[in-house]
Amino acid sequence: MPKDNAKSPKHKTATPPEAAILSRALPYMQRYDRATIVVKYGGHAMGDPELAESFARDIVLLKQSGVNPVVVHGGGPQIGALLDKLGIKSEFKGGLRVTDQDTMDVVEMVLAGSINKKIVSAINKQGGKAVGISGKDANLMTVRKLKKQLADPNSNLMKVVDLGFVGEPTKVDPHIIEVIIASDLIPVIAPLGVSREGHTYNINADTFAGELAAKILAKRLLLLTDVEGVLDKKGQLIPRLTLEEARALIDDGTIAGGMIPKIESCISVMQNGVEAVVIINGLQPHAVLLELFTEHGAGTLLGPAHDA
Ligand code: ADP
Ligand code: MG
Repeated sequence: MPKDNAKSPKHKTATPPEAAILSRALPYMQRYDRATIVVKYGGHAMGDPELAESFARDIVLLKQSGVNPVVVHGGGPQIGALLDKLGIKSEFKGGLRVTDQDTMDVVEMVLAGSINKKIVSAINKQGGKAVGISGKDANLMTVRKLKKQLADPNSNLMKVVDLGFVGEPTKVDPHIIEVIIASDLIPVIAPLGVSREGHTYNINADTFAGELAAKILAKRLLLLTDVEGVLDKKGQLIPRLTLEEARALIDDGTIAGGMIPKIESCISVMQNGVEAVVIINGLQPHAVLLELFTEHGAGTLLGPAHDA
């Protein structure tokens, strides 16, 4: 009978590869359903327009799939470029830029102005609804002046250096983020904060993202950067690190520079109950999508020794 014949196995055709890929995403989508994911988008990873578009598309796809992405962005290279253009000379201490009042004005213009709105536009162009704010809005981030310790070149003793308006978070009030998420919008946040005296401070975007992820109990924190992940002494990718191993790598100097605030933020975030933090290469197109919705997760996962 024709009806039975139609059901017979010899009429079965192979699964199209596109369908197989989409179908394999199902368990990942279920895992992150309604979860909040904080994504830190690094200053170096956002220079290229095509990468910026693939990032924006990933964020919109996450939202469309029932995930609540929260974007925190950096902007170091772009700040440096505008300071140069305006002829504002910065003082450096131990390789770190001192943020005086003139520099801070430029930092705010670039972070809360041009970069923030560029990311918002890119997301909205892909059909998302992003809202750009800074840590100053609704008192999201209260800060105090960062007490940075650096080795004094003369005595080699550790000394506190004054880096100007560079802050460290003291209090997170996540209300504004909750309101934005509850309205089904995507928050895009510039890492600024206000001190109790009312001064504006710049905060390292990794530190900002970590504090926020811990406060809103994000399921994951993704740190997008310009390297594959944490590299060992030979430059090889370390796919998985426990907090103890990460601390040891900072102590022996393998982890340095801009990777230190990432690891420190990972450590404090995990102590506050976020399951796992991943450091991935934002120069890889669709890095966020690959990390969350496929088995091709790359980069370095910081988490407990067992599977997170
Ligand atoms: P971002 O804009 O992503 O915050 P940063 O320059 O602040 O970028 O931090 C990433 C940089 O950290 C890398 O490009 C690399 O130069 C540096 N780094 C230092 N130690 C390591 C390490 N062990 N593994 C990977 N990167 C490292
Ligand atoms: Mg950095």
